[in-house]
Amino acid sequence: MAAAESDRDLSSALCSEFLNFSAKDTAARWQQAPELQAELYQHLAVYVPRIFCLGPSGGGGGGQREELACQLLLLAPLEWLLLGAEPSAGLAQLQENNQPSLLCGHVFKVGEPTYSCRECAADPTCVLCMQCFLGSVHKEHRYRMTTSGGGGFCDCGDTEAWKKGPYCHKHEPNNRDTSQEVRRLHLSVSDMVVRSYSIFSIILKYAVDMLTWEQEDQLPAGLEPPEKGDTYYCMLFNDEVHTYEQVIYTLQKAVNCSQKEAVSFATTVDRDGRKSVRFGDFQFCEQAKSVIVRNTSRQSKPLRVQVMHSSVVAHQCFALKALGWLGQIIQYSDGLRRVLCQVGLQKGPEGENSSLVDTLMLCDSKMWKGARNVYHQLLMNSLLMDLKYKKLFAIQFAKNYERLQSDYVKDDHDREFSITDLSVQMFTVPSLARMLMVEENLMTTIIRTFVDHLRHRDLQGRFQFDRYTAQQAFKFRRVQSLIGDLKYVLISRPAEWSEQLREKFLEGLDAFLELLKCMQGMDPVVRQVGQHIEMEPEWEAAFTLQMKLTHIISMIQEWCATDECVLIEAYKKCLCALGQCHSGLPDGEQPISLSLAGHSVETFRYQVSQDKVSIHLPVCRLLAGLHVLLSKTELASRFPEQLPLGELSPPLLIELPLRCLVLCAQVHAGMWRRNGFSLINQIYYYHNVKCRVEMFDKDVIMLQAGASMMDPNHFLMIVLSRFELFHIFSSADCRKRYRDDEITCDVVQQNNTLIEEMLHLIIMVVGERFVAGVGQVEPFDEVRREIIHQLSIRPMAHSELVKALPENENKETGLERVIDSVASFRKPGVTGRGLYELRAEWTKHFNLYFHHYSRADQSKAEEAQRKLRRQNGDDSALPPPALPPLCPLFASLVNLLQCDVLLAVEGAVLQWAVEPSGGGWTESMLQRVLHLVGMALLEEQQQLENSSGDDDVTFNYTSKITRPGEAPSTSGSVLALLESLQNAPHLEVHKDMITWILKMVANIKTMRERSSCSSTVSTSQGQGPEETVRDKDKAERKRKAEMARLRREKIMAQMSEMQKHFINENKELFQQSLEELEASTSAAPHRMPRVCKAVCVGPRRSGGGDRRQLVTCILCQEEQEVRGQGRAMVLAAFVQRSTVLSKNRGRAPPNPEHHDALFMHPDLAFGTHTASCGHIMHATCWQRYFEAVQLKEQRRQQRLRVHTSYDVENGEFLCPLCECLSNTVIPLLPHTHTLHRYTHTHTHTLHRYTHTHTLHRYTHTHTHTHSAADREDLAAPEGFRVDFIPPNPFSSSVREMITTFSTATYKVGLKLNPNEQDPRVPVMSWASCAYTMQAIERLLVDEDKPLFGSLPCRQDDCLSSLARFGSACWTAAPPSTTHTHFIRLFAALVPDSQVENTPCILDVDMFHLLVYSVLAYNSVHCLDQSGRAVVDSAHLHLLHLITVAHLVQILLTSTTEEVSMDQDSGGSEEEELTCLLYNTLRKHLCSVLPEVSSGWHLWRCVKAGVLPFLRAAALFFHHLNSAPPPAELQVAGPGQWEALCSYLSLPCNLLQLYQSKHTLLEPLKTSKPHHFLFPVSCFLFPVCRFPRESNRLIDLPDDYSALINQASSFTCPRSGGDKSRAPTLCLVCGCMLCSQSYCCQTELDGEDVGACTAHTFTCGAGLGIFLRVRESQVLFLAGKTKGCFYPPPYLDDYGETDQGLRRGNPLHLCPERYRKIQRLWRQHGVTEEIGHAQEANQTLVGIDWQHL
Ligand SMILES: [Zn+2]
Ligand SMILES: [Zn+2]
Ligand SMILES: [Zn+2]
Ligand SMILES: [Zn+2]
Ligand SMILES: [Zn+2]
Ligand SMILES: [Zn+2]
Ligand SMILES: [Zn+2]
Repeated sequence: MAAAESDRDLSSALCSEFLNFSAKDTAARWQQAPELQAELYQHLAVYVPRIFCLGPSGGGGGGQREELACQLLLLAPLEWLLLGAEPSAGLAQLQENNQPSLLCGHVFKVGEPTYSCRECAADPTCVLCMQCFLGSVHKEHRYRMTTSGGGGFCDCGDTEAWKKGPYCHKHEPNNRDTSQEVRRLHLSVSDMVVRSYSIFSIILKYAVDMLTWEQEDQLPAGLEPPEKGDTYYCMLFNDEVHTYEQVIYTLQKAVNCSQKEAVSFATTVDRDGRKSVRFGDFQFCEQAKSVIVRNTSRQSKPLRVQVMHSSVVAHQCFALKALGWLGQIIQYSDGLRRVLCQVGLQKGPEGENSSLVDTLMLCDSKMWKGARNVYHQLLMNSLLMDLKYKKLFAIQFAKNYERLQSDYVKDDHDREFSITDLSVQMFTVPSLARMLMVEENLMTTIIRTFVDHLRHRDLQGRFQFDRYTAQQAFKFRRVQSLIGDLKYVLISRPAEWSEQLREKFLEGLDAFLELLKCMQGMDPVVRQVGQHIEMEPEWEAAFTLQMKLTHIISMIQEWCATDECVLIEAYKKCLCALGQCHSGLPDGEQPISLSLAGHSVETFRYQVSQDKVSIHLPVCRLLAGLHVLLSKTELASRFPEQLPLGELSPPLLIELPLRCLVLCAQVHAGMWRRNGFSLINQIYYYHNVKCRVEMFDKDVIMLQAGASMMDPNHFLMIVLSRFELFHIFSSADCRKRYRDDEITCDVVQQNNTLIEEMLHLIIMVVGERFVAGVGQVEPFDEVRREIIHQLSIRPMAHSELVKALPENENKETGLERVIDSVASFRKPGVTGRGLYELRAEWTKHFNLYFHHYSRADQSKAEEAQRKLRRQNGDDSALPPPALPPLCPLFASLVNLLQCDVLLAVEGAVLQWAVEPSGGGWTESMLQRVLHLVGMALLEEQQQLENSSGDDDVTFNYTSKITRPGEAPSTSGSVLALLESLQNAPHLEVHKDMITWILKMVANIKTMRERSSCSSTVSTSQGQGPEETVRDKDKAERKRKAEMARLRREKIMAQMSEMQKHFINENKELFQQSLEELEASTSAAPHRMPRVCKAVCVGPRRSGGGDRRQLVTCILCQEEQEVRGQGRAMVLAAFVQRSTVLSKNRGRAPPNPEHHDALFMHPDLAFGTHTASCGHIMHATCWQRYFEAVQLKEQRRQQRLRVHTSYDVENGEFLCPLCECLSNTVIPLLPHTHTLHRYTHTHTHTLHRYTHTHTLHRYTHTHTHTHSAADREDLAAPEGFRVDFIPPNPFSSSVREMITTFSTATYKVGLKLNPNEQDPRVPVMSWASCAYTMQAIERLLVDEDKPLFGSLPCRQDDCLSSLARFGSACWTAAPPSTTHTHFIRLFAALVPDSQVENTPCILDVDMFHLLVYSVLAYNSVHCLDQSGRAVVDSAHLHLLHLITVAHLVQILLTSTTEEVSMDQDSGGSEEEELTCLLYNTLRKHLCSVLPEVSSGWHLWRCVKAGVLPFLRAAALFFHHLNSAPPPAELQVAGPGQWEALCSYLSLPCNLLQLYQSKHTLLEPLKTSKPHHFLFPVSCFLFPVCRFPRESNRLIDLPDDYSALINQASSFTCPRSGGDKSRAPTLCLVCGCMLCSQSYCCQTELDGEDVGACTAHTFTCGAGLGIFLRVRESQVLFLAGKTKGCFYPPPYLDDYGETDQGLRRGNPLHLCPERYRKIQRLWRQHGVTEEIGHAQEANQTLVGIDWQHL
């Protein structure tokens, strides 16, 4: 109280000073002052504490008063002083002379779209704002769109950022020289420079001092307030350790605030970085502080709290304002901006790094978020907008780099709030980066700083992540951002090298090698035998590091590649580093000697399965990369002796990579099972596309490099020995393997797998030539080969291909350049995505042993390729493809194929295959050997083709394989073995391949023979002449056999297809949606060809005979007739509230307790919709089923505590057949009039009396036509008894089901607990019937479908049962209830003074009225023993009456607009009559209605307006009376109107209804017409127009970025201009919401719900369709617990959606998909869709939908 009091005093005191204060005079006084700073400080000392922080809300957002006072008392005098003139005039003058920067510099808001050109951007960090992008050339290029995370600015105008088109239209430089002149002039003549210099110095110094001020109770000299009160703030600071919940909970305890206040505090703390949570004297604040600290210190470090004096807080507030002011002022003039930059960078008294900017940077991590944001913004607006100062700033930044990074690592704020985040603004500018590298040694600094932060090492100095504590792990995550900086520095490669740059780069490389050495050999593993490992070792950190460094390693190689000197130096350094890693490798042990096939080699003892092995070998791999680069140089081809290769010992080079590959093989062979998942994960990532470029790929290259420098036999022997297979192939009788049964089955299997893996490795070492430098290829070829092999598995979408290819540092894969040359694109339909298919001519490049295939990929690809070949009628052999030639440095690799050791291995495997009984071989093994043989033959053929004579072909595999095997196993040559295998019955699968090989051998022989005799002509693949005839014959026979087989297969396939089809078809029968059925039903013959005219209502109505209806229960499969007295049959149904037809979304949901449900307003704001899947069950069967579901659910909840997709407690269940979501059942009832057999009493009640009375009034008017009806009516009631209760025509089971369904519609429609006594129970059933009919009528119009015959039968059944149910549901309620309803309904048409609460006819939806009164009439009639005819004629009368009322309704609402096109041609009868009626109405309404001259227009309005009503009525009577529809209404076309009128027994000229039966409206006109037609309410609410237009989902823009832009400017409506984190667009009404956030949670029925859920309850009666803009995802919500995500209607050029906006391809609206969503909504199918999605994906059930 006291505080508030003093607050008021102060502000009034301030007010008086306001009036006396003159900014101009103050400025003048300052100007005179000798010591400006002292003068200014004194002013601030007095005023600042009196303006800011006067009340509890101190520390931010002080409101308008504060804002105003600050401007007038503090800033205005400064502006006067600076400008020497009236501020607004002075600023305008400045702006006029301003030469704006050529940089756009637009600073991005969170979530704003940014664009990067994939063709022209220097790197992916170069982005444009939307405006610049749209005005740039890049709009036509391939671009990428992303959403900004906030911070960063538009690079438009930065010539270094763009290879082409650096300026948009707006920022294009023009005639800049002249204006530069002007500017210089302006600043030099004025003395403003001097003034601004001193003012900026003082203000900036003040602000920096205050923001970095650390004392809580003191102020800097000169700023002490004149009087210092005991007013303090308890200031809470943000950290990223504590959660929202923790903070909220603590605050509630510490400062006694409500949950709501606590949430608001927490939100502000999170946003601004600090917030005062208590205001008062020191003691009071201190107390709160201690509670907070105590409460939060338990698990982690406590929340930071300070008790600060109010004057300190006040000055800090003003300091922020002052910085903001500086930022604004310099926008007016680039001259001033330069002055500010100069002031900021000027060296302070402490010498180096002591400028104000330095001070700010160095204190960055100590400041709170809000302060950081403000000064970062200022830096961006000043220093970074000017190239000269940007450079100076960058130098300071680099000088402080180490310190800043260390501060950042210790801090816990996200990087976007750290000064270090600005690195991207400088390091990505190539010239700056180069300058910093040369002058500040930036590359080395970054790497050293990084390494310094990873202190934990093992004895060998390697990183050791498994010992990390949680905090170290946290630090490790933060320090990774340094790698990002390194990437920026390296991202653009130098076009020219200076000597200094070489020196600094190599120095950086040294540092980098130090880093790699720490990684080499980290996380070593040892095979676990016996026991399973106890704890999974940590492996992720090491891989994270590897992954992050992958691009850096690649970039360093690319840098080296641009300069031969650097490359050679780097190679030497790397070699030297590797040497250091290898020291101690042979361990001084005795070398062992291996010999095989007449060769021998020395190596040392080492076994992967027993010794330590590591997967991390970055030094080796870097060397491998450099080796390939060397191989590409000119030096390598011309002076290979000058390469520093001499220092290499090839066996040492290959050692570590080989171990790693053997490790993978052993893991595959199951030898490392006991080492757990961590190893499996490591192997996975080793091959994964994210890592493989600098891991697996390089290991293969290293083996290739080593092998090319060694004797191939030696190489293979070492490989065999490392695979621990040497003993198998070296033993004398290796060809008779496993004859002894000593070895266990397990070991045999292991060895088999290892042999397979080893053979695969040899295939790769020889065959992988698609790296430029290894083979003679271009990078283009490499990418193309990857794509070919991906597409050989199956057709793929663009994004799948992108994922399968490694991205470079620019996030490019090179896919686009290649894809169109090898694949054709197949467009997507309404679902699915666009796919690329490999063109046939590229399949010959398929290599089964492609090194990037996983085992699964390989077998899929094999299957697909074999199938393809069969389809083309080819044989099934998959021979190796032709390969590109090797580079000179790798040329000797081919000799591996023909070396003795390999031949021995091949011979052994083939021999095992000949005698398969031993079990010591596998088909994969054989397949690999055949592949190797094939490769060798291809090599030989290629060499022969390319040579001029036989002599220079050194490769002679054919001659080697014809030699018999080495002694002592003399079982024949490889060729002989192959020939004997050709016809082996157990090798049928490989037969084609063996045939291919033998043919190749024959070919080569011919080639050799021919070249030796003619030695000039080299043959192509042609066959020898003597062979051709025989071959042709054979081929022909084979072709025929193949054809026969294909036919057989085709037939089989067809049959299985038919079977599948049958199943699918039947499944679909149950799920048919509208569009699916269209074709089938329209083709089907019309249901009832007839001669007589079809009429659906009235005494002349047709159809509706006593057809017996037989149905089958889906649960017990029994047939059953539908009878009123029989066993009840029910239809599974789903009732939901709906606003799909609503014309007034602003209307509040009806109050369930007091809502008068009897009259539906024409705005149809809330309706109840019923749908059914059409599946019929016995009521008893269903009840049993439902009970079982309930029981199961109870057990499940107890056991698992998981929810299902349906809410059993609310009566929900899934249809037992089709799993469609249902929440009740509709009883099937026989056709209405059969019921009347059971009405047989002769008594009448009092109600009946009143009714005949009322009915009389209108029935009387049509006596001529319906004399029969009248006769019945006139038969006077005799002997009526008051206690009469009509007998119920239904069996008890049917009655029970009637209650079930009525209760369900009541419960859902009104959101009330079931209450059978409520008179509204029958009304809700009628309402659902009417609303569903109306919804379906709209749907048919929107889909352009004919009124009848196009609905799937499940909907037909549903409508019929609804209509029949409606006419029978009165039996469940007391008769008086329905009678009262009928009286009230009737009174709405024929006013009756005794009836109260009668609405105006403009407030009643006429179709609902029609349905209600027709259905209610049945209960009235049940008291009547008279025949069916009475009912029919009563229905017709009701229809006539209500139609006329509707005509009046239309006329009253439709004519307010004037028509321009007056058609006065004659005027038909319709038009005249319409005019007549209209004028009658005008007369009665005292000319409230405007005068209308055009009858044509009126009639047109009436006809259009009444059509939906008539169509709905036809649907209704059709289903109620089972009247067959006329043929005209079953097709779209002309004559609809006439057919409709005649079907409804109405005259085509509807006005005749009124005209010929004049009296009809008499009562309507006589009784208080004014009140009756126009009560006040009609003028308060907008009246509906007819026809009501169908609702549509909102229009969406074609370009998705327009939406992103819209969302980025959307601010949270609750937290004062803050950006919303998850802006979400309601597709129904177009409302943007702040979803998934605390700030916008509201309470709904006692629970906190997010903005979306809250919105659904007003906008969609619990159902919502949203677009999550940042995620590009459609969200369906139903109720509080259900929801699912749905693909958005936006596609990129490749026909794919981008959920989560990860890929950033431009997205455009796909209207078909959007229509599909709209259709789902209009069909009321969203809830069902959610149900299906949740059933299919259980994780969806767990999502907290209500908080979205
Ligand atoms: Zn821009
Ligand atoms: Zn621009
Ligand atoms: Zn471009
Ligand atoms: Zn049954
Ligand atoms: Zn079903
Ligand atoms: Zn909405
Ligand atoms: Zn919000």
